[in-house]
Amino acid sequence: MDNQKAEILNSDWDERVLELLVCPVCRGSLHPEPDTLRISCIACGRKYPLEDGIPVLIVERAASK
Ligand SMILES: [Zn+2]
Repeated sequence: MDNQKAEILNSDWDERVLELLVCPVCRGSLHPEPDTLRISCIACGRKYPLEDGIPVLIVERAASK
């Protein structure tokens, strides 16, 4: 039960953080990609890495595909 609660808290945290984050290039919304552990910008398609669960919103680190 404690594990379940922790998971819910984690997903709430992720959603709230992602609402605050925007693409540094175009200010577009960012969406997580659970399969690749990256977050992608829905506006320009750049993909940013997640390191230890923390989005790295550095343009030089972004992948365009
Ligand atoms: Zn973008």
